[in-house]
Amino acid sequence: MATAVVEPRIRGFICTTAHPAGCASNVNAQIQVARSARPGQAGQVDQSSQTGQSGQVDQSGRATRKNGAGPLRVLVIGASTGYGLAARIAAGAMYGAATVGVFFERESSGTRCGTPGYYNTAAYQRYATENGLVSANVNGDAYSHEIKRKTVELVASRLGQVDLVVYSLASPRRTDPDTGETYQAVLSPIGETYVGKTIDLNREVISEVTVEPASDEGIRGTVGVMGGDDLHRWSEALLDAGLLADGARFIPFSYIGPALTWPIYRSGTIGRAKEHLEQTTKAIDGGLRSSVGGKAMVSVNKAVITQASAAIPVVPLYISLLYRIMRERGLHEDPIHQMVRMFNDHIGPGRTPTLDEENRIRLDDLELGDSVQREIDSVWPTITTDNFRALTDYGAYKRGFRQLFGFEVDGVAYDEPVELEAEI
Ligand code: NAD
Repeated sequence: MATAVVEPRIRGFICTTAHPAGCASNVNAQIQVARSARPGQAGQVDQSSQTGQSGQVDQSGRATRKNGAGPLRVLVIGASTGYGLAARIAAGAMYGAATVGVFFERESSGTRCGTPGYYNTAAYQRYATENGLVSANVNGDAYSHEIKRKTVELVASRLGQVDLVVYSLASPRRTDPDTGETYQAVLSPIGETYVGKTIDLNREVISEVTVEPASDEGIRGTVGVMGGDDLHRWSEALLDAGLLADGARFIPFSYIGPALTWPIYRSGTIGRAKEHLEQTTKAIDGGLRSSVGGKAMVSVNKAVITQASAAIPVVPLYISLLYRIMRERGLHEDPIHQMVRMFNDHIGPGRTPTLDEENRIRLDDLELGDSVQREIDSVWPTITTDNFRALTDYGAYKRGFRQLFGFEVDGVAYDEPVELEAEI
């Protein structure tokens, strides 16, 4: 037991503290969103979800799924924050899915609090336990052989096999477990210097950012981290261990965004890495089809406030504007809304995914809609330090960023000490 009053300690796009009760409250709110979107709630009757609760756990605590009946069995790699957390919550709360989550988080030690992803996972674990859902966690470096081995063992013992693998890692570096080489990602344009508008999150002013083009080493490093190498290794590890159920699906996440962000994102180092991830997914798709009749497809998601997106120049300002415009049009979506839509429209039991010409699910359709992007294009050049609070929803961005760490969440007593230890 260790209690403390926890306050935000923020510098730019980093916050070094996290509030356990605020994180739990965020997770519970996401669970509510997912529960109210359960198939059958809106008049859609779906047998698999009606039976997807505690009835499908055998005596050893393992999920059983015979002849397609029983809970969906899902492995989420990158399950503790952002899109991966939302995918896990959607699977669990909409379908009673049995889940294994992999992530890299720090638990509390003494009076030092843990990371948000640790507290998020503790909150999900509580929900799963209270509702009789199988839920197991692996905390460590997903890129390593050791964590893959541990995950394979846990999937075998707790899920038997998996029906769905969601791949949602976002990291600045990766060490290749075979060569020992550490790749470092950079967020840079390719070929030419980028000069653009961004928000300085410390000083809260609009400034011009100049980013020099990446070196070959920078491009190689970014592809080494965020490209498809590790995804490929996960697919091999799970296939070799016979853990992919008939028809199993693999879904990694990508982003494309509007032309406005292309120089720094899609046409830059990170976009190069995403292209590699998308090519790798096509290769994995071929392998899955022939081995288990499965499928691998990228889901292109919309821009949302997460720890990963806060670190990309231009993107926080773009998201501030995007959120204002999408909210005004009744189109607003956070990660949980995107993941609910992914399951409901594309990959939930009984659903057939709608894919673009590159075999991708497009959850960024509303973000990239003509009228939303026309407004972005007309407002963007006029944004200055004097007017950005009025023209964009920067207030919502700032609050959303703090909420990632459990701060500024309604109903949380921030002036009272809170228990820092949590069980996952
Ligand atoms: P995030 O920072 O919220 O989550 C990253 C997750 O990866 C966390 O669970 C973290 O613990 C885990 N992780 C990081 N390094 C790890 C390691 N070495 N071992 C194990 N786990 C590790 O990120 P996010 O924004 O949700 O991004 C997830 C994916 O979604 C990425 O592929 C990203 O490109 C994609 N995406 C994000 C956005 C966006 O706007 N945020 C939009 C579209 C697509």
